[in-house]
This record gives sequence, structure tokens and C-alpha cells, in this order.
Amino acid sequence: MTSEDDSFGDLTIRTQISRFIEAAPPPLLQRIPAIDKEYTEKLIASGFAVEQIRFLDSAVQYAPEGIVVMAPCEDGSPKVVFVNDGYCRMSGRAREELVGQAPAIFASHESDKAMADALLHPLCQRRGFSGEALATRSNGAKYILDLTVVPAHDSNGALIYWIAYLHDVSEKKAQLAALEHQVLHDVLTDLPNRALLEDRLQQAMLAAEADRMSVGLLFFDLDDFREVNDTLGHHFGDAVLRQVAARVQPALRAVDTISRLGGDEFAILLPNIVDTRDAMKIALAVYDAFLVPFDIEGQTFEVGASVGVAVSPTHSNDAIGLMRCAEVAMYAAKQSRNGYLPYAPDQETATITSLALRVDLREAIDHNQLVLHYQPKIHLRSGLVTRVEALVRWLHPERGLMQPDQFIPLAERSALIKQLTDWVLDGALAQCRAWQEAGFPLHVAVNLPTQSLLEPFLPQRVSRLLDKWGLDPRVLKLEITESGIMADPPHVLAILHLLRTLGVRLSLDDFGTGYSSLVHMRNLPVDEIKIDKSFIMGMRHNESDGAIVRTIISLAHSLGHEVVAEGVDDEETFKILSELGCDLAQGYYLTPPLPAEELMKWLEASRWGEGATEVLRKRRPSH
Ligand code: C2E
Ligand code: CA
Ligand code: CA
Repeated sequence: MTSEDDSFGDLTIRTQISRFIEAAPPPLLQRIPAIDKEYTEKLIASGFAVEQIRFLDSAVQYAPEGIVVMAPCEDGSPKVVFVNDGYCRMSGRAREELVGQAPAIFASHESDKAMADALLHPLCQRRGFSGEALATRSNGAKYILDLTVVPAHDSNGALIYWIAYLHDVSEKKAQLAALEHQVLHDVLTDLPNRALLEDRLQQAMLAAEADRMSVGLLFFDLDDFREVNDTLGHHFGDAVLRQVAARVQPALRAVDTISRLGGDEFAILLPNIVDTRDAMKIALAVYDAFLVPFDIEGQTFEVGASVGVAVSPTHSNDAIGLMRCAEVAMYAAKQSRNGYLPYAPDQETATITSLALRVDLREAIDHNQLVLHYQPKIHLRSGLVTRVEALVRWLHPERGLMQPDQFIPLAERSALIKQLTDWVLDGALAQCRAWQEAGFPLHVAVNLPTQSLLEPFLPQRVSRLLDKWGLDPRVLKLEITESGIMADPPHVLAILHLLRTLGVRLSLDDFGTGYSSLVHMRNLPVDEIKIDKSFIMGMRHNESDGAIVRTIISLAHSLGHEVVAEGVDDEETFKILSELGCDLAQGYYLTPPLPAEELMKWLEASRWGEGATEVLRKRRPSH
């Protein structure tokens, strides 16, 4: 036996055989076919018992993988002397077709045949080898063969056989390729994702550096994309995202990569360009590609793009730096409504401000810098106040009191909105409980952003908070918007029904500003409709606004909903609304939103509050 420095553990026939014996299932023993005579004789000569040989034969014959034994013919080259059932099945060929062939039969491709023929090389003959080959079944189907050939020697160290183990690894390979594709591509659009882009960017920058060329990187995102999602639904948003690549492709070369970074953000890698001008030309073409409106399922709408351009080595000579520059330039293009802009260092400040604000907001939530103000809703018929709306403010340590319009949109663009909503819900319910204990059983309304409506666990969270504060669910009203519902109508409706089942009340906020208001109003499980303040504020001067307000009131009443007018900021509007039969009013005419203690003072001091306070005091809470 030789003891070469082999990598396959140069196995002797004896070792091979004992391995098969160990692995062989005993019942097969009975099914042993006629054993190759010459082969058997050799084995017996090597000291094997017939029983053992039967065992071996069975194990090899019925092994699920292909096992082929080759022996050197007269000129020393290997020829197949034995094939098992596994390989016949795999190759789709009969044993007679295979026996006597050279190892090249394993492969169909010329280079792979060469690999199989490498077995002729003396080094391989001694050490064996392994590799992959493209093979063809008898029916012409291609498959990938994993081939390991091990030489076997007799007890004198002479090479007598090669044993080949063959596996069809096509499926495994395909699974691996699919997995790799999945890891490196975006599911919705099937475009390369950020990881793949980064990798290609790095390669492109290395190559460009060697060739003294530049690499261009464009970042772009869609303008008002959220509006598409909110007003037309996610289904349309997804369709837009899927069409992005086809839109910009005509502007690109075959070597350019378009990638989806997430949300409505995309990037285009331009390897091997001369300078910034080249990249700007493509940026313009990308920008232009979005000037044509989208037409999806018969709906025509416009979605523009803002493109940021960064070029190496001008703006940065490392991949991460270049990506940052392209992103900053994109924000600058968006903010300036400029369509497309190359990176410039002075763009940094503006971007940093909104990034810093986001970091601050996270801290604000953790460190109780947020406060809730409450604005009462008054019953127009009785003049009583029994409901308030909670509205959040941010006491920023440097910027002072910030209104929600300055940070809610920012929070909505990140996961922070969930924390913020939880904070508001918790705070408003805590306050509600405190009022109850003080003898003011006010009902509280909380604004729910679209993101919350899309969360499957919202009803559970609300229910848990109500339990935490020991409150009857009927004291809580959630204000939702039409765009929130339109984001995913079936899902949101299911959530709303669940909330209603809990006993929570629902209010449709900013009513009249969305698309499909009237159509949907009938089927919505809401208790209250809030006419958007733009109509209320316009009704004194604008007849059509007045007509809209009248129509909404009568329609809502006919459907059994209460109507609230928000933005009531003068006496005249207040009176008109009373005459129109509107149920409740909210606005600066009564009071702007107030901190909780001031609201109490207002309730006790104002003429609206007086009667209310009395009535509320009589209606002591049941808790
Ligand atoms: P909204 O839900 O429509 O709230 C009503 C807004 O109108 C409040 O502004 C209120 O101060 C203002 N308002 C009330 N009466 C009048 C009036 O007579 N004239 C005028 N011009 N305005 C009046 P605010 O508090 O600045 O809130 C703005 C928006 O921010 C809210 O609109 C709501 O969409 C959002 N928001 C406020 N608090 C929260 C919150 O806790 N969570 C969420 N998700 N959004 C909130
Ligand atoms: Ca509201
Ligand atoms: Ca509103």
C-alpha cells in the first residue's frame, strides 16, 4: 500500500470495502444480483469471504449516489468496468452503454471532459481528484455532476482501480444560486440590493483607479411617493416601484447597475466614466424619465424623481463616502426642488439638520420632552364639553416648543412613529384616568398615523394600555384619516372592526380632503366624522365650502355618524354650524389646545366649561 501525501486518503480496496459493509442495509443481502465474476475472484483472492462480497455488492449497487469503478486498460488509461444503478439512473444510460468507456463520458462539455480525462495524468492517477462537470442525460437534459475519483491499490501498492463517486448536485446548486440571489436582490423589484451595489461599487472603484477613470453614483428617490401609497393604496405604490427600472434603463449602458436601496430609494452605479459631466448627463435622463405620468390600471398620475450625483475621485475615493455624498446630493435636490444636483459640501448642513432632529426625537421620547396639549370639542346643542383631543408638542431643549407639523412627518418617515404613538396613547390615557379621579370624566381622542393602522397588533396594544389605566374602552377615541384607510383597505378595516369590538370609538379625521370619501363613508365602522378645517375656515367666504359642509353634515347624519367641525375660529362660523345641525365644534374660537392643568382652569372659568363642569361633576365616574 502506498502512503502518498494524498488529499483523499488514498484508500485501499479493503478500506473501501469495509466502509461499504458498514454502511450497507442488511435486508439487501437477500437481493444480491450476480456479481461480476472477475471482480469477485479478485476480492476472494484479497481474502474476502463470499458473504462479505455479497454485502459489498449490494451496498454499492443500491447506493443512491452513482458509483463507478474504473480499471487501467492495456495502455494504462482508465476504462469503466463497473457502474451501479445509481449512476445508470442519473445518466439515463444502460450499464452496457457505459462499461468499457473512458472517464470523459461523465461530462458533456469539452472543458469538463478534459477534467475527466485528467485522470490519465499520472499525478491524478496516484492521488485521485474531485471537481464538478456539466453532464448530459440520455434525454439531453443537462445536470451538474459532482465527481470524486479515488485510486485504490492492492496490498503491493499497485494501482488496480479508481472508484468514482458521482452526485447530481443540480438541485443543490440551483437552491444555492436562488439563495444567493435572494440575499443580494430586492424581493419586490428583483433589482440588486444595497449589499450587491456596495460590492459592485467597490470593484468599480478599484478598476477605475487602475485605469485613471471615474465612477459615477446616482441616488434618486421618488417625489410624493407616500402620497401614491396613501391615496391610491400600496398596491399602486408597488406597481410604481416595479416600473422604475424599465423607465430608467434606456438612459443606461449595459455595464451600469440599477439597485433598489429600500423604500422609494434607488441607486445607479456608472463604472468607467470620464468625469462629473458624464454622470450629470445620465442624471438628467433619469430625471426626464419620470416626467411622463404613470398609467396603472387606468389611473394616470405623476411621480417625479430627485437625483443626487456623486463622482469618484472628485467627491470621495471610497465606496461608503461616495454613497454618502450621493445621498446628501439627493436630499439637496429634493429640498431645492431642483430635479438633479451634483454633490457639494455646503449641502451637508441641511441634511444634517433633519438627521440630527431624528436623533433628538428618539431622545425626546425616551426623556419625556414631549408634552400633550388638549383641545376641547364642544356639543353645539347643549354647550357642554365632554371630549378633548390630545395633540402632541415637543419641548426641544434648544429650539423651544415645536409644533407637531415640524416633527410628526419626520417621525412618520422612520420607525420612531410607533414609539411616539405609544407614548401619546399612554400619556393621554394616564391623563384621562387622572381626570376621572378628579371628577372630570372627559373622553380623550388620540390621532393615529397610517403606520399604526397597518400594524396587526394595534388592537392588542390599545387594549393593554386601557387595562393598564383601568379605563372603559369607550372613553378612548382614535382619530384616523382616509389616507390611513386607503393604505390597505381590507387590512385596515379588519383592524378598525377589532378596535370597535373592544369598545373603542373611532373618528374619521380631516374628512373631505381624500379621494373616495363619500363612497367609503357608508362602510366605515366610525362613530364620528370630523370635517377638515380647510372647509370650516373657508365656509364664511366660499360658497362651495359652505355647500360641502352642509352636504357632509346631512350625509353623515343619514348614515348615523356624529359630525365634528374642526378649525372653528370665529363666532359667525360657530353660529352657522349650530344652525346647520352640526353636533360638535372644536377650534380657536373656544380655545387653542392647552396643557392639562390649563384645560381644567378653562373648563371651570369659561362659559363653555361652567355648565359642563357642573354636569361632569354630577356624572361621577363609576371606577
Ligand atoms: P389635526 O388632527 O387635524 O389636529 C387639529 C389641528 O388643528 C391642531 O394642530 C390644532 O391645534 C389645530 N386647530 C384647532 N383649532 C384651530 C383653529 O381654529 N384654527 C386653526 N388654524 N387651527 C386649529 P396641531 O396641534 O398643530 O396638530 C397638527 C396636526 O398634527 C394634527 O392635525 C395631527 O394630524 C398631527 N398631530 C398632532 N398631534 C398628534 C399626535 O399625537 N399623533 C399624531 N400621529 N399626529 C398628531
Ligand atoms: Ca385630529
Ligand atoms: Ca383634523
